Amino acid sequence: MIVLKTSRELSIMKEAGRISAAALKLAGEAVEPGVTTAEIDRLAEKYIRSQGAVPNFKGYGGFPATACISINSEVIHGIPSKKRVIRAGDIVSIDLGAVFEGYNGDNAATFAAGDVSDEAKALMDATRESLYEGIRMAKAGNRIGDISAAVQRYVEARGYSVVRQFVGHGVGTSLHEAPEVPNFGTPGHGIRLLPGMTLAIEPMINAGTEKVKTLADGWTVVTLDGKLSAHFEHSVAITAEGPQILTLA
Ligand code: MG
Repeated sequence: MIVLKTSRELSIMKEAGRISAAALKLAGEAVEPGVTTAEIDRLAEKYIRSQGAVPNFKGYGGFPATACISINSEVIHGIPSKKRVIRAGDIVSIDLGAVFEGYNGDNAATFAAGDVSDEAKALMDATRESLYEGIRMAKAGNRIGDISAAVQRYVEARGYSVVRQFVGHGVGTSLHEAPEVPNFGTPGHGIRLLPGMTLAIEPMINAGTEKVKTLADGWTVVTLDGKLSAHFEHSVAITAEGPQILTLA
């Protein structure tokens, strides 16, 4: 069932989104060679709690941390660790969110640690842009497939591949709600978008094969060919006035 949010609920989601976005910004600013992923996670958690919110990933399905931090060929769900030191040239995907007054924010971005290769930069740029291509289609009257196809078209035109095994989702009182928001699809297909729907749109884009596997830790998803992956995400509301990004710092 897809839950349509009232304007009162959307204003709470906007605050949950603000906290999520500010925590992500803080985490991204901490990405530097020599820093551990555990330290970044700690900073994000401290900020979220300072805002009267709670990290919504922590404990979700047993996930042990505030942020998923995934480096280079890691796609999503990397577990922060004191042993994981960021190195110059790494690209670091951070995915995190906050629950505030019962409503969830969810956002992600990939950050560069020091100077990264042109190849890495181009992948990050294309993934970020594909998110905005998707958001532009998040309009009442369109269908989910319009968002999906816009993301897919943008990245595949640049020679990248779309991860298919994981998709975006509705977001609200639950971190993951209906509907699914794939990053691949056909324009004009899927459910129709209505004002009050809130979607987490999150392209996960690989430099090489779209195929991924999960490591033995049960969480970390990596590209099958070991090539780079990037991830950008916003929580977005469908409104009569057009798409409204909720996760803005
Ligand atoms: Mg998400």
